[in-house]
Amino acid sequence: MSVSVPSTTSIRRAPGSEPLLASGDLAPAGHFINGAFQPGSGPARQVIDPCTGETIASVADGTVEEVDAAVAAALAAKDAWGRLVPKERSEILHRIADRLAENAELLARLESANCGKPSMVSEDDVAGTIDTFRFMAGALRATTSMAAGEYAQDHLSLILREPLGVVGVVTPWNYPLLMAAWKIAPILAAGNTLVLKPSEQTPLTTLKFAELVADILPAGVFNVVAGAGSVVGSRLSEHPNVDMIALTGSVRSGRAVARGAAESLKRVHLELGGKAPVVVFADAELAAAAESLRAAGYWNSGQECGAGCRVLVHESVASAFTDLLVKEVGTLVVGEPGAGSDVEIGPLTSKEHFERVLGYLERAQAQGIRAALGGGAIEGPGYFVAPTVLVDVPDGAECSREEIFGPVVTVETFSDEAEAIARANDVPFGLAASVWTNDARRSHSVASKLDFGTVWVNSHLVLANEVPWGGFKGSGYGRDLSVYALDDYSRTKHVMHHQSR
Ligand code: NAD
Repeated sequence: MSVSVPSTTSIRRAPGSEPLLASGDLAPAGHFINGAFQPGSGPARQVIDPCTGETIASVADGTVEEVDAAVAAALAAKDAWGRLVPKERSEILHRIADRLAENAELLARLESANCGKPSMVSEDDVAGTIDTFRFMAGALRATTSMAAGEYAQDHLSLILREPLGVVGVVTPWNYPLLMAAWKIAPILAAGNTLVLKPSEQTPLTTLKFAELVADILPAGVFNVVAGAGSVVGSRLSEHPNVDMIALTGSVRSGRAVARGAAESLKRVHLELGGKAPVVVFADAELAAAAESLRAAGYWNSGQECGAGCRVLVHESVASAFTDLLVKEVGTLVVGEPGAGSDVEIGPLTSKEHFERVLGYLERAQAQGIRAALGGGAIEGPGYFVAPTVLVDVPDGAECSREEIFGPVVTVETFSDEAEAIARANDVPFGLAASVWTNDARRSHSVASKLDFGTVWVNSHLVLANEVPWGGFKGSGYGRDLSVYALDDYSRTKHVMHHQSR
């Protein structure tokens, strides 16, 4: 493939005089249990600014005893919360949305400070968080079940939708507030109480959320215990009084949670990793596909489970498409969150993850895979990786099968439709995919054969609260967003009355 290589190699730094956080922006550093913050008895864990590697806060790791106290509080609160009529719960969710909207700017700054997210990403996360609460506040009043009726002679059947009880939630570091909202809103809407463990790297917005809603939610309805997955997450998975465990995270953590839940046979809801193929046929609008991937492959620095990170392009247009993609990606603005509203790419969220992504890039290049753009770290403090396009990627290469979770898109070629479908499906994940074509038959038939929970046609990474999000295969099971999430966090009871006794 012939590609020119514009290279983004510099990091735009924020003016030193304007720190992102002021004293008083942070919530109390502790656990939020039964409506109040507690200092936490476990060892303190440093929260790091990924732009500089410096510590911005420290939060105590939770212990098993603290999880047990939070579960006890959620258990004590569940009957009263579950008995509220839909209108009452809906009004409370709307009040939460209003409170978040009043504090949107602060929440976005906190998320940027903790994750290194460009302000456009943090602001989008907060807007999505608010909309999730508004959607669930409305949807919970409109949920229906099968009509009551006489389905057996002389018997009247009523179908009741009930809360599950106490839900344990474990969230990741890539969208700390948004992923928390995707769980909290439907779980509360369906009448459950919950205990949430944020990622140990990114607890700040979740704790702030707790502080902001403390006077809105009754004590015990929503609890946060920060800390390690192997301690707090594991205890939530195993806890006999937790009725369901919901995790957004890696496949490895998903397996651990499912194993932990097995003994008590609690329900499990898993939103795991992805490796979204982007199948570009020869008749596609190549410029539109390249422009779309500029965002869909690199949004949130590629730390996005639905990112369009694996291009499969027809061999006849591969060179032209790669040229367009490299030109698009070469214009991405890399910088610190405080360096301007036009910054599009920030650092990776942690040093550990930065090293993991660089490892993938080094191994790919050692295998003869060429970086048409980027290919490594950007010099300077912080965990910045250059927006990268890897080309000449052979079938089955590690970089095209495993989730790199950084600003890296790989390009492979195919010869015909059957091969494109088979290769797109040949990954352990099944979260999201896209197909690019102007052929109406192909747009339907290829989408129906792609084994992914979301398939976009001539688009990628567009989400809405009304439609479900979740995966197949190694990407887990259960659905976030939409009324399907409300179903997942409810149980169905059939009550049958004899009509004449
Ligand atoms: P991770 O699995 O390392 O951590 C996720 C959470 O699981 C953290 O809170 C962690 O402490 C916890 N955890 C770890 N071990 C645990 C255990 N044994 N028991 C219980 N909890 C445990 O994932 P991450 O690196 O924070 O997030 C990135 C991953 O999340 C990627 O794989 C990404 O694709 C996935 N993700 C998926 C979606 C989706 O909607 N499908 C959305 C966002 C992120």
